Amino acid sequence: MADFVVTSARALSEEKRRAIARSLGAPLDAVTFTVDEALIGGIVITDGENVLDASVRRKVTDAAKQAEEHLANAPLEHILSSLREEFSHLPKAELTAAGIVRTAVDGVIFADGLSRAKVGELLLIGGEYFAMVMNLERERIGAILLTGMNLVRAGDEVRLTGKIVTVPVGEALLGRVVGPLGDPIDGLGRVETDRFRPAEAPAPAILDRAKVSEPLYTGVKTVDAIVPIGKGQRELIIGDRQTGKTSLALDAILNQKGKNVYCIYVAIGQKTTTVADVVNTLKKGDALSYTTVVAANASDSAPLQYVAPYAATAMAEELMYAGKDVLIVYDDFSKHAVAYRTISLLLKRPAGREAFPGDVFYIHSRLLERSAKLSPRLGGGSLTALPIIETLGSDISSYIPTNVISITDGQIFLESGLFHAGIRPAVNVGLSVSRVGGNAQPKAMRSVVKGLKLDLARYREMAVFTEFGADVDEDTKSVLDRGAKLTQMLLQKQGAPYSMAEEVTEIYVMSGDAFRVVEKDKIGATLARLLEHIRAAYPSLLSSIEESGELSDENKSLIDKAVSEVLT
Ligand code: ATP
Ligand code: MG
Repeated sequence: MADFVVTSARALSEEKRRAIARSLGAPLDAVTFTVDEALIGGIVITDGENVLDASVRRKVTDAAKQAEEHLANAPLEHILSSLREEFSHLPKAELTAAGIVRTAVDGVIFADGLSRAKVGELLLIGGEYFAMVMNLERERIGAILLTGMNLVRAGDEVRLTGKIVTVPVGEALLGRVVGPLGDPIDGLGRVETDRFRPAEAPAPAILDRAKVSEPLYTGVKTVDAIVPIGKGQRELIIGDRQTGKTSLALDAILNQKGKNVYCIYVAIGQKTTTVADVVNTLKKGDALSYTTVVAANASDSAPLQYVAPYAATAMAEELMYAGKDVLIVYDDFSKHAVAYRTISLLLKRPAGREAFPGDVFYIHSRLLERSAKLSPRLGGGSLTALPIIETLGSDISSYIPTNVISITDGQIFLESGLFHAGIRPAVNVGLSVSRVGGNAQPKAMRSVVKGLKLDLARYREMAVFTEFGADVDEDTKSVLDRGAKLTQMLLQKQGAPYSMAEEVTEIYVMSGDAFRVVEKDKIGATLARLLEHIRAAYPSLLSSIEESGELSDENKSLIDKAVSEVLT
């Protein structure tokens, strides 16, 4: 009988030796016991020919070999997911870890110790104030303060919240004046709503959208006729300072009374008194009940001015996704861009053209992309945007204006020359355009405006020549005469909106020859008299145009009749 050699990691007790010898069927003195620590555990038995390896070392090398083969064949995703699975069981020390504010200047802070922070995440500082993460750097993060502007100090503790900035939304905000984060500033108490939405939200996808097809009347003749706006459109109002930009947007809001369109007016970086005037105008025009005013005034910090339009858009989205039509006015994007530039410079981001950071285009594009006409599947609501841009010296080709022109569906260019010449609203017909609103114009309007734009453009061009006192022929004279009269027709005071039928009636009348006999200075008064006469003598005429959206031959002859009655 062969002798056995039994190797173990540690010396075996007498009892175990006997048990092993017994199980081998050999007397105890036929078995040699040795120790080898390299086995780690278990035993190895040999009889000179065969080896029975029941050691831990063997198990480990087997397992390693198996793992190697497995990993070599497994797809990367599989390996990563098993790693993720393993790590998910580890304690999340970072989530509860606090960082420290290192610097706090003008509403911009830098903090360290928060390597897990995400862009846009809300930070809680000292258990009291909030900030939003803007920059992620290797050693530190940059954030903008939303509250506690001058109260956060270097050394304060910062914690991650895992949340993003949300604002209160819902119909309770209508009729209210709120700050950039939806906190009331009108002294009317709490905003009673339990609905919140993230300030930044993705824009509706292509398949969630429908074509712009319904008109959104501003009640301003020039706009509704020449640069018509459709629900879901983005139309830029651009012009030098004091050219009637805000007035035009407010007129559009005032005109939504009784039309089931909700409005949001966002004031960015304006004087508090200017915003108070706006609120008063809306109150007087009975328009505040369906409007929310969101105000980040010049005295507010740059971070708040930057956040305001996003918050306001969230408020608008809540209504849009509930199937409502919403009009939002951003007054104005120039100041918004400046607020963003301030933040970016404080965050030490590299400055580009005009010292704006490279992504200044994106702050406006991702905002305006949220305007939409939703598909019927999503309730068919709409968000129409009227961003405002202030130019310097009528230069619409500078950096921010060209950016915003390229992300809107057209622009209404207000010119200070026209404004000072008394042509108000001071719309430059030649440089203003609406790329999609034409589809939404009712037939009645489309049928009468055809020649209007061309006639006006020709008139403005020729008027420049005649300023030098050139002799003109009969043809030119008639173009000039007609243009001057059309211009008179389009003059309009603020806060005096026209209905679509009234606009159509006036434009129709002016397209004919009847008003040739009326002197230029009397055009406005005569047209007003005509409308009054129509309202009294043909009470159903205007409402029939309004309801059918068409100008029937019958109605045309009724208008002709009214004209002859007024002119005699
Ligand atoms: P800012 O650049 O200061 O914001 P703005 O371009 O918004 O100015 P508004 O404040 O709307 O211009 O208007 C400037 C002035 O022109 C106001 O006093 C306003 O009353 C007047 N105004 C605006 N539109 C008209 C109009 N259609 N008819 C008469 N006056 C008008
Ligand atoms: Mg203004």
